[in-house]
Amino acid sequence: MAIRLRGHHLLCLLGYRGMGYSADFCTNMTAIYETLRTEPDSVVELVTGPDDICRAYPPDELNHCSGTVHQLDDAVLAKLGFKTGESLSWREVCDRISQEVVPADIGHLCTSCPWQSYGVCQEGVQYIAEGRPLPAVGNLQ
Ligand code: SF4
Repeated sequence: MAIRLRGHHLLCLLGYRGMGYSADFCTNMTAIYETLRTEPDSVVELVTGPDDICRAYPPDELNHCSGTVHQLDDAVLAKLGFKTGESLSWREVCDRISQEVVPADIGHLCTSCPWQSYGVCQEGVQYIAEGRPLPAVGNLQ
């Protein structure tokens, strides 16, 4: 079964290092990250709005799954030349990221994201650009 992802999460996954909004959120995101990392031929379906990562967002916290974050989804998909409704492998996603995105783009695209200042997303884009594997979560270098 395809992993359903919204546009901006294609980049968020590159910077995922085990940090998140709650234990349940991290358990779910780690499972998705590790599946994609270890099985890059896994199929990703690009969707509009809440996806398989959003579904584990803490239900008692104000979420940002809708609203202006849609503009970020659109901007990332446009940058990558993808459209919602497409299905492709994670390997193809990474290949396109390596062609179209440089680390500094995170600063241009993700202006409102609190995670941006950690630098891990820029680092993740750099890994992909250099053809290096993403690190296992819990096995930081
Ligand atoms: S800075 Fe925020 S929105 Fe941008 S890729 Fe990282 S986590 Fe995602």
